[in-house]
Formats: sequence, C-alpha cells, structure tokens
Amino acid sequence: MQDIDLVLGNNEKKNIIEIIEKNSSIVTDVMHQKEFIDFGDVTYTEKTRAVIKIQDGCDRFCSYCIIPYARGRVRSRKPESIISEIQKIAKEGYKEVVITGIHIASYGKDFNLANSNNSTNYALIDLLEEIDKIPGIERIRLGSIEPLLITEEFMQRLIKLPKICHHFHLSLQSGCDATLQRMNRRYTTEQFEEIVNRIRNYYKDVILTTDIIVGFPQETDEEFNKTYKFLEKINFYKMHVFKYSRRNGTKAATMEGQIEEKVKEQRSKKLINLSDQNEKRYNQSYIGKEVEVLFEEEKNGHYQGHTQNYLLAISKTHGEKNQIIKLKCIGAEEHFIILE
Ligand code: SF4
Repeated sequence: MQDIDLVLGNNEKKNIIEIIEKNSSIVTDVMHQKEFIDFGDVTYTEKTRAVIKIQDGCDRFCSYCIIPYARGRVRSRKPESIISEIQKIAKEGYKEVVITGIHIASYGKDFNLANSNNSTNYALIDLLEEIDKIPGIERIRLGSIEPLLITEEFMQRLIKLPKICHHFHLSLQSGCDATLQRMNRRYTTEQFEEIVNRIRNYYKDVILTTDIIVGFPQETDEEFNKTYKFLEKINFYKMHVFKYSRRNGTKAATMEGQIEEKVKEQRSKKLINLSDQNEKRYNQSYIGKEVEVLFEEEKNGHYQGHTQNYLLAISKTHGEKNQIIKLKCIGAEEHFIILE
C-alpha cells in the first residue's frame, strides 16, 4: 500500500485535481449516486462519428450482470448538456452521432422520479426529437437498446425523425424462454418477435443485430437448440456471441449447473457460423442497389465507410472522408459490400 497515494471511485474522476490538492481519498457508494457525472465533452470520437454518452447505471439486475452493482442506479445526463455538446460537434463537422449509455432505454427515468408531481415524462424519444433538429447532424445511430423500449407509440414518433439510422442493436441474449427467465430478462421470445416485426414493418431496409450468451448455467442442448431455431427465424444481420463467464457477486455465478467450457465453445461456433451466413446473404442482397455511404477512411488502397443501416462498404475509386456519397453496390463478401 505504500506505493498508493490516492484511491478514487469512478464517480470522483472529474474532481481529481481538487482531491489531489486536498490530499484525500474518496470512494462514494455508487448505489447512492443520484446524479449523472457530466464530463462535459464528447465521450469519444471515432473517425467521422461522435459517441455521446447520455446516461449511466442500470436498474434491471439481469442475473449474470455486475453492472447494476458496479455502476449503480440509472442517472441521466441533462438534455441541455447533451444538446449543446452535439451542436458543438456538428459545428466541428461531425455528421453522425451514436447515442450510448449503459441502458439508454431508461433515459429520463430518474428525472421523472425526481419530479413525481410533474406530468412531463421526458424520455429517450423526446431527446431524439431534439437531436434530430440540430443542423449539420445527418445521422443519429442508437447504441444497444432494450427490446421493450420499442412500443408502437415509440415507433410512431421515431419514424418521423429522418436522421435516425435504420439499424438497431437489440440485446436478445437467448432465444429460449426458460433461459431468459433464469437470466432475469423481462421479455419472452414471443414479445421479442413481435417487436422485431414492428420495427421491420416501419423500416423496410432495417438491419438488426444482437448479443447472445451461450452456456448460461443449466442451458441444456434442448434449450440451446431452441435458441438456434429462434435465431434462424429472426434472421439477424449479425450476432455478437458471448460465452457465459461467471461474475462474482451476481446471482448466476452461484447457480448450479455451470456449463463446461468445451460445450460453450461448440455452441458459440455454431452461432458464429449462422451469423456469418446471414451477414453474407444480407450483403449479397444489396448487389445492384444504390446505397448512401458516409466515408470514414482510406485503408489498403481503398475507401471505406458505413451505410446508414450499418453495412460496411468499400470502394476502390470513390470515398472522400466525412462525405456521404450515393453509390451502386457491385459485389459482396462475408463482412462487407463492394461499391463501384
Ligand atoms: S445486461 Fe444490460 S440491462 Fe441487464 S443488468 Fe446489465 S446493463 Fe442492465
């Protein structure tokens, strides 16, 4: 311990100078943290897009996840702060913003609790409507979202926002109801399918991606097969497959029936194969169509960027950085489309 001068909790990062000056150590209990710690600037910027953090924490307590304990309850960043930051980065020339957080579907929940007498229920959709009006921003991409956010009312308002990218990352985690229950996820596969149909009904060119956990405690072959069949039916563009790993302090870590690594490995490979097949098939379906691409960089002699629905696109001849260009798709590989 003699080499450690200072111990700080995550929430004290912004006060680091003051704390060093006072030569003190602070770690507050994150579960009692009620305010979003606003660092003021863009969380980080990628080549042509800015990633904007709008909230922290989560109240969902999925049985495998440590985040509610580690990051505390939902704290939302004030809309004024988010809007003024996006206005600033739009002036700097960024055309695309990615809206992220730990659980963005809960955005505003803490404002509403604080103003329980106030009838205004400021939520994610209100924020998106404001961002959509900011001049210079041409694309708004949503980070990972909780499926239950996608109600009919939400979609009716979202469809009116022209800058929203037709790409949604819906965390499914399992396609078997019994596994979902053990995970403490709050939807059934039937509800999830309804939500997917709802989105596809509004956006014909939508790309859906997801996260899946394989080898969750007690996942039998039969349960895994249910997941596999469900995934075939939903037909995601791409799936991020995670092998379940125990997190001390979570309910799932103490569950009986932990699954052997080699079984997790086999299940993971099967789903990755399915994901690759889907991706290739989707990509091939774009051959002959025109797409709008925001070009990000020049790499190995070609230009690359993403379509608004998040296909990786490559061109040998066109592609000025940070420009959105409409081009025809002339070919497709497993992980990208090829443009004229
Ligand atoms: S998995 Fe997501 S929704 Fe579930 S507790 Fe963790 S952060 Fe919250």
